Amino acid sequence: MQNPDVIIIGAGAAGLFCAQAAGHRGRRVLVLDHANKAGKKILMSGGGRCNFTNLHATPADYLCSNRHFVKSALARYTPWDFLALTERHGVAHVEKNPGQLFCRDGARDILDLLLAECASACVEIRLNTGIRSIRPLPDTGFTVETSTGRHQCRSLVIATGGLSIPTMGATGFGYQVAEQFGHSLLPTRAGLVPFTITGTTLSALCKSLSGTAVAGVTARCNGTEFTDDLLFTHRGLSGPVMLQISSFWQAGDSLQLDLLGNGNGLHWLQEQQAQRADSELKTLLGERFTRKLASALLEHFGIDNRPLRQYTPAQLEAIANQLGNWQITPAGTEGYRTAEVTLGGINTDEISSKTMESKKQPGLFFIGEVLDVTGHLGGFNFQWAWASAHAAAEAVG
Ligand code: FAD
Repeated sequence: MQNPDVIIIGAGAAGLFCAQAAGHRGRRVLVLDHANKAGKKILMSGGGRCNFTNLHATPADYLCSNRHFVKSALARYTPWDFLALTERHGVAHVEKNPGQLFCRDGARDILDLLLAECASACVEIRLNTGIRSIRPLPDTGFTVETSTGRHQCRSLVIATGGLSIPTMGATGFGYQVAEQFGHSLLPTRAGLVPFTITGTTLSALCKSLSGTAVAGVTARCNGTEFTDDLLFTHRGLSGPVMLQISSFWQAGDSLQLDLLGNGNGLHWLQEQQAQRADSELKTLLGERFTRKLASALLEHFGIDNRPLRQYTPAQLEAIANQLGNWQITPAGTEGYRTAEVTLGGINTDEISSKTMESKKQPGLFFIGEVLDVTGHLGGFNFQWAWASAHAAAEAVG
């Protein structure tokens, strides 16, 4: 397709969704991507099962410097709309945590769905294609110079995502295009990313416990808290609760971890002391965590292991405080190498929230993760990809 109505750069979640939706509206659509395969991140998402939406998605599940920006697009293309699409394609799903929908049989189902919709809408997807330059045409439209030829189009959609996982083809290309057309950027950093811990007794603890998970941990940072599973790793701390709180953490901040779950630790310990006074603390914690973790925590915090009856109320309170108010200052995060998302990006004040069109350059659209919109963990990021792509598809060409 030499001169389509719409060129979309980026054959990821947002780009493919926008392509099929615009194609079904009768637009001639060409998708360009420098990678050798479309939708690579979809395939690796959700541990290979793609958490493709969250039925409870609301604007409050997104970080964006303009908190109103996501409202219109999310309201006009809902999780139920995407669920209906998956059902039309016979994609089986499972609901893990309430509202979190994953493919039952694998993420490939979502990519196949998008590619099938693109094929039926006569979308051309050209891979292995580097973008050399983008120039606005005098009246309306753009010339896009690529490694495989020159194209002209009326609408240009940038769907090149963020900086996370460079080995999957992530680049800062979308930010460069935005700057070329006078857009401002908000500082970017890795989000939904594991923490690294170095040079302390805690790093030795993490290494020795690598692979150990703890359910129901509450993590707090900068006035936000999440409760979910924690995972000790060779490098530090991971698991859903750590990924979630990482999006609210800035270098140098400390985290507060409650291993006993949401502030009820003292009450729980007092109850246990009343009910099973002869049990040792290590046994009690070993039942709640694992024996290995219980021993490691007692050693780390210098807590004497005794039958519960031997702890005074003040000592029990001190133990609850150590396990329930554990202050940790991570050295950093694993960065874009393993981050699920990029925080920051193109300033949404300069983008129409109804159409995703640039307020600075008519005909230019930005969708998906390249924008300063980041969802929490749980299917919210794909829902943003679908919703923002849908909004643009209604307006292009
Ligand atoms: P992407 O999907 O990243 O697509 C961008 C496309 O642009 C790519 O195909 C890339 O090759 C192309 N591109 C980049 N630069 C150029 C260039 N210079 N020239 C041409 N093409 C270019 N979210 C969820 O909601 N649920 C999950 O289960 C989930 N799991 C995840 C697991 C992992 C390991 C990761 C990394 C992310 C996960 N996410 C998940 C986040 C989700 O994958 C992203 O938010 C989503 O893919 C963003 O879609 P996008 O289309 O904006 O960008």
